[in-house]
Amino acid sequence: MPAHTIIFASNNQHKADEIKKIIGDSFHILTLRDANINIDIPEPYDTLEANASQKAYTIHKLSDKNCFSEDTGLEVEELNGEPGVHSARYAGEGRDFKANIDKLLQNMQGKQNRKARFRTVIALIWHTHEYCFEGICEGTIIDTPRGGQGFGYDPVFVPNGSDKTFAEMSMDEKNKYSHRRKAVDKLVEFLKGVDEPKVTVPAD
Ligand code: IMP
Repeated sequence: MPAHTIIFASNNQHKADEIKKIIGDSFHILTLRDANINIDIPEPYDTLEANASQKAYTIHKLSDKNCFSEDTGLEVEELNGEPGVHSARYAGEGRDFKANIDKLLQNMQGKQNRKARFRTVIALIWHTHEYCFEGICEGTIIDTPRGGQGFGYDPVFVPNGSDKTFAEMSMDEKNKYSHRRKAVDKLVEFLKGVDEPKVTVPAD
């Protein structure tokens, strides 16, 4: 049976690469660029769930195809869950990774409690129905960035169970811990399920 084709409603190549690595060959993922959709999808809401849903619906309306989106935030305990849904634009509209990290470290100066978590919400539009999957990775914020891989807040986030930041890990290693992998695993489980043959047990 041919693999399902699904559009990933995002322009973020880092996310697309991580997700393709997790999913492998079992599903055929098209990025917006692959699908010739050139749009900067707005994220106007104040929850990850609402933004993920809006992104998936926007692309579903444009393409009339099955698609999923994801929205991710870094939630820092000592900052009451900030930057959270504002993670991309924490230091301004420029979405500058370094400026965001600088602002985060400034706000965390002198704080003893360094607990934080990444939370990913995936919204899937599957034959006009919507499904939602969540993945969480708990960890801590360090006070000096380390590592050159990954993106976003990776250089200052150490997941529980490791002493490396995400930016010091290969993509495979990050995917062992990551919020995105946990959410994508749930998506894959769902998609595998929709292919399962319906077995009718004959009555005795
Ligand atoms: P969005 O889901 O595209 O709105 O992403 C929000 C922001 O969170 C991104 O711009 C990154 O700064 C950050 N972010 C999302 N996922 C990750 C990750 O896996 N590692 C580090 N930062 C991330």
